[in-house]
Amino acid sequence: MRENPKSIFTIDVEDYYNVTEERGEPPISEWDFLPSIVESGFMKLLNLLDLYQVKATCFFLGYVAQKYPHLVIEAKKRGHEIASHGMFHRLVYKLSREEFIADLLSSKKILEDIISEEVISFRSPSFSVTESIPWFFDALVEAGFKIDSSVFPVKRDYGGYQTTQKKPYWIKTDKGMLCEFPISVAPFCGKDFCFFGGGYLRLFPKRIILSMHSKLAREGNPTLFYIHPREMEPQHPRLKMNKLAYFKSYVNMNTVKPKLEAILSSSKFITCKEYMAIIKDN
Ligand SMILES: [Zn+2]
Repeated sequence: MRENPKSIFTIDVEDYYNVTEERGEPPISEWDFLPSIVESGFMKLLNLLDLYQVKATCFFLGYVAQKYPHLVIEAKKRGHEIASHGMFHRLVYKLSREEFIADLLSSKKILEDIISEEVISFRSPSFSVTESIPWFFDALVEAGFKIDSSVFPVKRDYGGYQTTQKKPYWIKTDKGMLCEFPISVAPFCGKDFCFFGGGYLRLFPKRIILSMHSKLAREGNPTLFYIHPREMEPQHPRLKMNKLAYFKSYVNMNTVKPKLEAILSSSKFITCKEYMAIIKDN
């Protein structure tokens, strides 16, 4: 019997208020003075992953890594991949190429100083790569990254980048090759949807998520899941935002843990770095 493709579990390690500036994220100058749930939420995630013996790729916000370096050390100690989510959660399409590279390099250096190991994987805040920034992939390789997981193949509020690729694929840039891990989508009523992270994972019922996950596996595609520490702390402080954004940000917060338990026991998981090594050799 053919083994199902291994799945990929990822965490964007950021605080409850890192919801994108358009959705009410407070200015960076206020972050130091706000309550924080990133430590407790992330530790709950690490403990859950241990229970199911799953290794994840943890995309740390540079700001979080700098403030809580012990979280990076703990994740590394437990065998997870340490990766970057940028420095200050700024939407990439709002930055110049130079600003983006500076942001990338500072987050990379902070993480590498903590773990004494090269950091090669990146995910942009809010999946904010769009066709409007054609330099995005070149800039990543120029800054020393080999893996990206920013492509969200269907339209969304703050990004969306069209591709027909359903599994990790290589992108040739002017600076070298980059392995892209697009967010998983599956067809539902004739349209592709993401069922596997953020508001989507909270909105859809567990049985639909698991059935879409099996569907991808039958087609030979790994499912890429993504989650945030705030989803393990359902009572975290709420930010002020319009009704629709509030719904998207906070719907079904209590359903995440049972969904994760079902997901984590449903598959074998592998980190982005491990997955890249396998497809490189094939
Ligand atoms: Zn984020």
